[in-house]
Amino acid sequence: MIQNILIVEDELAIRQMLGFALGGDGYRCIEAGNVVEAQSTLARQRPDLILLDWMLPGISGIEFARRLKRDPKMNQIPIIMLTAKGEEGDKIGGLDSGADDYITKPFSTRELLARVRAVLRRRQSEVSPELLEAGTIRIDLQTHRVTIKGEPLEVSPTEFRLLQFFITHPERVYTRSQLLDEVWGNETYIEERTVDVHIRRVRKLLEPFGCDEMIQTVRSVGYRFSPLVQ
Ligand code: CA
Repeated sequence: MIQNILIVEDELAIRQMLGFALGGDGYRCIEAGNVVEAQSTLARQRPDLILLDWMLPGISGIEFARRLKRDPKMNQIPIIMLTAKGEEGDKIGGLDSGADDYITKPFSTRELLARVRAVLRRRQSEVSPELLEAGTIRIDLQTHRVTIKGEPLEVSPTEFRLLQFFITHPERVYTRSQLLDEVWGNETYIEERTVDVHIRRVRKLLEPFGCDEMIQTVRSVGYRFSPLVQ
């Protein structure tokens, strides 16, 4: 699902740079040079995130953030404020206005993308805690469905729990016996080899989507789930 970002920034060069960086990372950007333009955009569509410059001609970014947070139709949209270096002292005022995060100019594309991702991820987990995501894998805890890039995956209940465990515990190595405890529970005696069998099956399901390498074998220890490899 493509996410939309509204960029409110009066300096054309910065606005274009933001649009270019975010567009290159797969976001769809809508640009506005001031609050009036931003408002007319918001009347037509609802972005997933607003990047809002602090210093704008006319209504300031901070005043606009306050207004958005008071509006019940808009107050769920996360806001990242852009500030210039000298304005850093005012950060507290900005957080009071309801901004979710800050980026201080000048910033790198990497920092920008990391902040945007973090805020979007945080918002998603607040809005729908029943949805887990790792890369392109999505687990719906309510319907017990697993999808990759929107394609449903046929998983058994054990495989579902295994994926759920991995996605909620990424970047850590687990031994087979730890996985048995966590995923199978300890009500029945199961051989450790069973873990390997299920891991193989899950990898096979992930393979057509290029996600199988997310489950890594850590020699003589166990397994690690790393969504970053995708
Ligand atoms: Ca400005």
